[in-house]
Amino acid sequence: MSFLTDTELTAKALDEYYERARRGDHPVIAQPALGQVVADLELERLVREGGLSGDALTAFLQRYLDTTTRLHHPAYMAHQVAVPHYAGALGALIDGFTNNAMAIYEMGAGAASIEFFVVNWLLQKVGWLPASLPPRSAGGMPEGGGVLTHGGSLANLTALAAARSRVAPEAWDEGTPRDLVLLVSPESHYSIARAAGILGLGQKQVWQLEVDGRGAILPDRLPAALARVKAEGKRVLALVATACSTAVGQYDPVREIGQFCRAEGLWLHVDGAHGASALLSARLRSRLDGVELADSLVWDAHKMLRTPTLCAAVLVRDGQMLDRAFEQEASYLFHEKEQPGYDFIHRTVECTKAGLGLRLFMVLAALGEAGLARYVERQFDLAAEAHAYLEQQPDFETAVRPQANIVCFRARGTDELQLHLRDQLICDGDFYISTTDFNGRRYLRLSFMNPDTTLDDVKRLVAALRKLSAEG
Ligand SMILES: *Cc1c(COP(=O)(O)O)cnc(C)c1O
Repeated sequence: MSFLTDTELTAKALDEYYERARRGDHPVIAQPALGQVVADLELERLVREGGLSGDALTAFLQRYLDTTTRLHHPAYMAHQVAVPHYAGALGALIDGFTNNAMAIYEMGAGAASIEFFVVNWLLQKVGWLPASLPPRSAGGMPEGGGVLTHGGSLANLTALAAARSRVAPEAWDEGTPRDLVLLVSPESHYSIARAAGILGLGQKQVWQLEVDGRGAILPDRLPAALARVKAEGKRVLALVATACSTAVGQYDPVREIGQFCRAEGLWLHVDGAHGASALLSARLRSRLDGVELADSLVWDAHKMLRTPTLCAAVLVRDGQMLDRAFEQEASYLFHEKEQPGYDFIHRTVECTKAGLGLRLFMVLAALGEAGLARYVERQFDLAAEAHAYLEQQPDFETAVRPQANIVCFRARGTDELQLHLRDQLICDGDFYISTTDFNGRRYLRLSFMNPDTTLDDVKRLVAALRKLSAEG
């Protein structure tokens, strides 16, 4: 067994896999039955005998790769999971091999420094001050802060824990007070409601705000919503804006919401898990106009930044707010010490922590920030073109004009027809798309993550849908 040989074999298999997926050689998705997969991969025999290396590894890899959903296939348009740049995958490999659990600086100076650097890079894209070491304690604008977590859901929980510690600092010791409510849009991601559950708020304390026809929060209805909160003797834990929504990719009007929250002293959390990447583009960053008014922002690199799962950032305008999210003692880790770096452990649910910054950094350093911005623009533009094309098709209708790289549309007919069409498509394996509920109707949903997907793929998809419709 040799690391070098096996890594070379793996790289060769992945390279072939990548080229074939890009050419569309294989179905984009195939779902053999679980028992069949366990048998085909000979899992039991391999565990019994060991020795997965060399030729055995090559054989296993071929069979394993055949079971995969091919994200690098241009017909992959289903979910908001990055089509990773290989540089990010190399980052994950290096991190996995060195295994520097960098929540404390002494366990990974390079990994922790890179996370510090990447968080600062993201903070500056938001328009917040980067953190310095040691922190500057100048008056005026606070230094921002952040941490990378395993996913936007955990990141949302972390941000709302920070919000809770500002509104109700006693919560850590005494438990969550009964009078806190969370103001959210009906289009907010389900992880927000889950965070409310985990933080001990309860779902009844998650209050929905009024939205317009595209599902965006109506800022002029916010005073009435706040008046209701006060009339019922409640306090606002945070107001959550979404940028952009998961289902249809629409941005809440962040500036107007932010101005309201600032005037009323409310914590504004912006869930930008998918859409914050628009901040990289001079042309698209107006989608999040006013985001600097927020208190916290979640931004997933494993969605629009071509980074392998998972790599999500929790960012806060005032870094101290995040330090107070988890007030807790673990003296062997948290003792005051002279050190040349920074410990992220205070800021995160996780204790043993992966060096997630390397994945994003290596993508950034491969493509350059301008290259990554061009990718985001390309995908957003493709959605606009696809929408315009679909609008011209008399037998299809669209949900809403896209603001990101997500397009929702339906074949004229029932909700059942949409579900049937998607099931058939996936069964055939030529296209992989999703569906969503929006304004009480079922839509087919495209999320353009793949830099190789073109308008021609959308046209071929429409043709395939027509054929399936005709077959009934
Ligand atoms: C995807 C998404 C999430 C969840 O992020 P994960 O990284 O999948 O946990 C949260 N909010 C929004 C708006 C999202 O699009």
